[in-house]
Amino acid sequence: MNSEYTQAELHFRDEVRQFLREKLPEDIRRKTLLGMHLTKDDCVRWQKILHKQGWAAVNWPVEHGGTGWDATRKSIFETECALAGAPEVIPFGMKMVAPVIFTYGNEEQQHRFLPDILASNVWWCQGYSEPNAGSDLASLKTSAYRDGDHYVVNGTKTWTTLAQHADWIFCLVRTGGPQEKNQTAISFLLIDMHSPGISLSPILTLDGYREVNEVHFDNVRVPVENRIGEEGHGWTYAKVLLTHERTNIARVAHSRCQLQRARELASATPDGSGTLMQNPVFAHKFAEIEIELLALEYTELRTLDAVRTGQAPGPESSILKIKGTELAQSIDELHAEIAACGGLPYVPWQLEDDFEGDKVGSDSAINSWLRYFNNRKSSIYGGSNEIQKNIICKAVLGL
Ligand SMILES: Cc1cc2nc3c(=O)[nH]c(=O)nc-3n(C[C@H](O)[C@H](O)[C@H](O)COP(=O)(O)OP(=O)(O)OC[C@H]3O[C@@H](n4cnc5c(N)ncnc54)[C@H](O)[C@@H]3O)c2cc1C
Repeated sequence: MNSEYTQAELHFRDEVRQFLREKLPEDIRRKTLLGMHLTKDDCVRWQKILHKQGWAAVNWPVEHGGTGWDATRKSIFETECALAGAPEVIPFGMKMVAPVIFTYGNEEQQHRFLPDILASNVWWCQGYSEPNAGSDLASLKTSAYRDGDHYVVNGTKTWTTLAQHADWIFCLVRTGGPQEKNQTAISFLLIDMHSPGISLSPILTLDGYREVNEVHFDNVRVPVENRIGEEGHGWTYAKVLLTHERTNIARVAHSRCQLQRARELASATPDGSGTLMQNPVFAHKFAEIEIELLALEYTELRTLDAVRTGQAPGPESSILKIKGTELAQSIDELHAEIAACGGLPYVPWQLEDDFEGDKVGSDSAINSWLRYFNNRKSSIYGGSNEIQKNIICKAVLGL
């Protein structure tokens, strides 16, 4: 694969840089670079700016409002956004349910849902996992029985990221009887989160923030027209969505940006008579990660090329998920090592604009530990890394 950019690609990179310089709001940039949690308003504000520029949907085909960029342009765009401190697009609408809707949804559903996703007018969340169905997702119990023109949904979803902001949830539900095979008894429903009978219980994550929730359904009525595709075929659509999710979790551009930041910090951190970056043990670890990240970048480019025309990535997305999250966590560990005991007074809320009181420890040390704690999740969500290894064994290696 040619790693040199063409003149046209360099021109595109300049265009992206200029756009980011002019349009990325300073308050959002600062929060993102500090690794702070963004509010719903921050995320939506940025996504609407991208939409105005026509750059919100990098993975959609042009006919639905996507950019139609090839893999190199997508990579340039993601890298420049990460380096400039632009937030990542919230994936649930734009990168996860939208490809399912434009691939398997009917025309009415495409007209009804896609424009609002593109314009970030609605916030989506993902209702797959349940208290007793995570890795073994097909054993999910949330039921949907038919009552005239509606399904009546009962059950509980868990670990539902940012459901507290959501207007809609895409949900896997059991429409088949208990004796029916799991994979033919599951349907894919789009459910309005404002429907009567839906309630949330917050779950605090290791970093101390509310990022995930339980979502309870108590006789929630959902119009049959909100079902994607055929009844009982939801498992097929669910798996396609997961390949998009896993490709997205690789976050190569984000890791590259964090690695660059680690180099800057380590170069300014005293260690013996030199700096931490000059410490051979640290430098060795750093170099190993840098090389692996470069290799991952090429793998990602190959996968993204396959999605150029709106196709789903293949099971190779599991490789991206494993390597991407392992590397991201290794980079977090480098940051934690640089911050060392500077991160012990863990008071992340002192990074907030409205914090009143005396600050303890440096912002960058707290930020490093905030990221470290938060990102323990990445080898679990989207299907744990152990499960991805099982998928690679079966679907890629044919074992
Ligand atoms: C922060 C966070 C956000 C999330 N957001 C969402 C969301 O928005 N929507 C959503 O639907 N879900 C979400 N999830 C759920 C996530 O997809 C599940 O946690 C994940 O699939 C694992 O399921 P589980 O938690 O039930 O663990 P379990 O399935 O109970 O697994 C426990 C451990 O056993 C291992 N294991 C299980 N089965 C096997 C096997 N066959 N072979 C080898 N090892 C195995 C797993 O790797 C894991 O280490 C989120 C999770 C987290 C942590």
